[in-house]
Amino acid sequence: MKVCPFPVKRLLVLLLLAFLASCDQSTTKQFTVADIPDPKKTDGGYVSNPDHLLSDAAVSSLNEQLGTLDRAGKVQVGIVVVHSIGQNDTRDFVHQLFNYWKIGSKEKNNGLLILMVEDARKLEFETGTGIEADMPDIICFRIQQEYMIPRIKEHDYDAAFRDGILSVAALFNNGNYAYDQLPEPPVVDSSLVVADAAVAGPVNADYPGLTAAADSAVAGNTAAEDPGLVEAPPSYFADNTPSVSSSYIGEPSLPGLIFWFIASLVMIRVFFSRKIKARKGEDNAPVRLKDAPNELLRPGTLGFILVYGLGLLGVGYMASVRHTDVGFLKTFVIFYLAWCLFMSGVVIILLLRAAAVLHEKDRHEKWACLAMVKRDVGPAAYAFPLPLLGLYVWALKKRMDRLRNEVYECPKCNHPMHRLNDVEDNDYLDKAQVVEEHLESVDYDIWRCDSCSTQLVLNYTNMRSTCSECPSCHHYTFRCDKTVTLKRATTSSQGMGSQQFSCAACKFKHDYMFIIPKVSSSSSGSSSSGSSFSSSSSSSSSWGGGSSGGGGASSSW
Ligand SMILES: [Zn+2]
Ligand SMILES: [Zn+2]
Repeated sequence: MKVCPFPVKRLLVLLLLAFLASCDQSTTKQFTVADIPDPKKTDGGYVSNPDHLLSDAAVSSLNEQLGTLDRAGKVQVGIVVVHSIGQNDTRDFVHQLFNYWKIGSKEKNNGLLILMVEDARKLEFETGTGIEADMPDIICFRIQQEYMIPRIKEHDYDAAFRDGILSVAALFNNGNYAYDQLPEPPVVDSSLVVADAAVAGPVNADYPGLTAAADSAVAGNTAAEDPGLVEAPPSYFADNTPSVSSSYIGEPSLPGLIFWFIASLVMIRVFFSRKIKARKGEDNAPVRLKDAPNELLRPGTLGFILVYGLGLLGVGYMASVRHTDVGFLKTFVIFYLAWCLFMSGVVIILLLRAAAVLHEKDRHEKWACLAMVKRDVGPAAYAFPLPLLGLYVWALKKRMDRLRNEVYECPKCNHPMHRLNDVEDNDYLDKAQVVEEHLESVDYDIWRCDSCSTQLVLNYTNMRSTCSECPSCHHYTFRCDKTVTLKRATTSSQGMGSQQFSCAACKFKHDYMFIIPKVSSSSSGSSSSGSSFSSSSSSSSSWGGGSSGGGGASSSW
């Protein structure tokens, strides 16, 4: 038997980590969701301050304000300020704690939990689903960035929470979180940094009711400087540069991404003819003119990956670099622009490919090749009104007109020939060609030389036609009359069908069999998970029973 040394090594590392963790725990407590002291249970308040990072005066003033908001039925706010939660992720932690305490009323789900973790340098907001409309993630983030993080960086946690809660209260009372920018904008930001008194001044003017609370908070925080924090090395909070490093990542819109996934697949198929896959072991139905592959450009899956990747890149940029939520509308615009960029690239490639391929073809072959490009890219010019694309399609039409309509010279006597009109045509066409013209799969031009009676018969195929080439007479007169299911597919076996083709010119008939794939058995009924809630009576000794949908925001400093 071979003994692998790896698990032993891993065990040692784990033991070491456990040892280090226990050492760390001896100095400061690392809280878990279950052992954060629940203020509802201890003093019926809203603030859990086990490490005494907030002053007692600030806590009681916050409790008073939050009680008013809660009793008015606007929002139930919980505040947790701790030094450490160990290696736990603050985002998960705040979400779990919210649901563990069940903040907010059960009916309105109007809970808000604010968590500050000092050693992780993280500030988290978690909102109940009922207030997500009033307090979307971006507003949470702004409150953090504009009112709380600057104070936290200055080490003034009392002021951070005082201003943060003033902002939350203003949001729910007046619909505007920017309480200090309401009518008659008083003192500006620069002065806020200089002295707390300056903040308290204008705030009190607008909110007389809060005067006492704010004053006591200011008074309290100078008195209650936490000695533990003063000892911390200066480098710990040295990041006082005005640029706020934020870790907020905007939420993408899943419906938007799914919509564009499908839309992009469809557009790639519509604007660029698909690759015709030959199914082995079957006689395949002939390819319809409208499905005939485009020789010049067929981006296929690679094109899809490119354009969708471009869109995702745009969404990712907005969410992580610009820190904004990317809703359905923004997603739509980003992907549309990605498509515009993609189509511009397509035009450039088409021009290059055409230059490389077409020069060795004659006038009639050039027309046939361009007709395919026009069939594919033409509709895109309507979906994407790009100057480049529009110009290209316009130039394409002009060029095709010229290729078809310019007067031919007689190959024998070099006299200019003249083109017969549609009625005169029919005398010179055979029966099958007349049928083709009738089915509009091919249009014939007949050029005739008046001096030597030479005729030139040129076929111009309609690339949008559903006709295929007849295997017997080779005219574009072969069509599917009927598709029949011979055997239905079940979950256990494949089915079979046949396409019945016939030629309108030579009456040739053939049935093409095709296989219908098995019906996938995942006809899923959504399993209804009956979630049982313990009904908690809404006395002051417990939170309301709300649950969080995961909304909120997070900031670091
Ligand atoms: Zn001639
Ligand atoms: Zn035929």
